[in-house]
Amino acid sequence: MPTALSTKRSEPIPALAKFHCGWYPLPNNPHQPGVGSYMQTKVIRKKSIGVDSVEPSLTPPPATETTFLLKPKIVGKSKKRDIPEGLWSKCPRCDSLIYDRELDDNLKVCPKCQNHFVISARERIHSLVETCTFEEIDATMESVDILKFTGVASYESKLAAYKKKSSLLKDAVVTGIGTIGTHRVALGVMDFAFLGGSMGSVVGEKLTRLIEAGTDRGLPVIIFSTSGGARMYEGMFSLMQMAKTCGALGYHAKQRLPYISVLINPCYAGVMASYASVGDLILAEPDAMIGFAGPRVIRDTTQADLPEGFQTAEFLQQHGLIDAIVHRKDMRARLIYYLDFFGAARRKASA
Ligand SMILES: [Zn+2]
Repeated sequence: MPTALSTKRSEPIPALAKFHCGWYPLPNNPHQPGVGSYMQTKVIRKKSIGVDSVEPSLTPPPATETTFLLKPKIVGKSKKRDIPEGLWSKCPRCDSLIYDRELDDNLKVCPKCQNHFVISARERIHSLVETCTFEEIDATMESVDILKFTGVASYESKLAAYKKKSSLLKDAVVTGIGTIGTHRVALGVMDFAFLGGSMGSVVGEKLTRLIEAGTDRGLPVIIFSTSGGARMYEGMFSLMQMAKTCGALGYHAKQRLPYISVLINPCYAGVMASYASVGDLILAEPDAMIGFAGPRVIRDTTQADLPEGFQTAEFLQQHGLIDAIVHRKDMRARLIYYLDFFGAARRKASA
């Protein structure tokens, strides 16, 4: 009686069996009905063209004949590994991957869809003023925890964390005197990265001193505002900054000096309800979200359906609050244009 070991087949074994190893029952083997329902172990099918022979593989065939069964190794690094981390940013609007250096060269504006990314205060100042003309004032002024506020985290620990995170910032605004084009201006730029650009005593005091410096020196004031509102850690002290900054702007206006307010996404609450909305000219970046309270709060309070996009810069321009929407890359040239205009008007008035 033949055994499986001595089997020399002339017909190929069904495909179902050729991947199995070891002795095991084969149900209904049509090729060896008398041999029993057992077959010998691993079987290798040669993949040579035109030859369809099969042989039992008690002895492993040479490696050259089996290499086609092995998964080929991938030589070299994959493309994914070739991309260093931290050098690319994804645009939240159009999902494009943008090389960070290209984004920086484009003033943090997406080259595909013109989405304006968040930009730091110092980067913005650098994009506006002439080289080496910006003299920062009150650079060392820091907030203190007057109320000893404690919530999820203490105000003191929050301040320490944000100062460490943004090593060049002591608070949410940078102020100073600089030159744009040929005009000396008092320039204040808020930074949303520091505690959501919230206005506490230091933000209010620095801006007030900036406005007063502009008044004393006869300079136009330009303030770029981005904020979530008054800083709740300071309670009433932060709310008083609304009146203080607007009071200083009143004295500045009495000297017939221009004040240009530029609204950056997002600009809300106490900041929007004070100095940000009283400019002689109010500009905004495209698609900036601007308002006093968030849409959900207004909807819950008024129980009314709100118009589509009612807090965007474009909507507010159509309804008269904003004078012009200016692309970030055009901002410097546009400011020079307005400053030229105000300077000419002032000279004409004094003549
Ligand atoms: Zn984009």
